[in-house]
Amino acid sequence: MQTECIFCNIVQRTIPAQPVYEDDKLLAFNDISPAAPVHVLVIPKKHIANLLEITPEDNGLIDHLMLTIPKIARQLGLDEAGFRLVVNTKDNGGQTVNHLHIHILGGRFMTWPPG
Ligand code: 5GP
Repeated sequence: MQTECIFCNIVQRTIPAQPVYEDDKLLAFNDISPAAPVHVLVIPKKHIANLLEITPEDNGLIDHLMLTIPKIARQLGLDEAGFRLVVNTKDNGGQTVNHLHIHILGGRFMTWPPG
């Protein structure tokens, strides 16, 4: 928990959000500024600044994160048409919140390449 981190505060419920999934290690909630009809952020409850900061001790956590995403996608009704995952990392990746998060974007056709 980092007191100045928005997503740690969402985990602690000191900043409100609309959760769509929660377990002991993960929280998924609607993005405040959706870029698609469905836009959910999946985060580890543990503060990890970005993908570059994961360590071997996070192995089980990252497995769990990736294994849970299909479950959340099905729950959101995205399994038939599909969806996109995005993990923006540091400045050039467009990361604006320094707590590891996976965007689940769905509900419309996604173009490529991204901007
Ligand atoms: P990034 O640009 O770091 O990959 O993504 C950060 C995401 O967090 C953005 O899509 C932004 O809209 C979302 N976001 C930022 N602050 C909040 C907040 O307080 N609540 C929620 N639900 N989403 C937020």
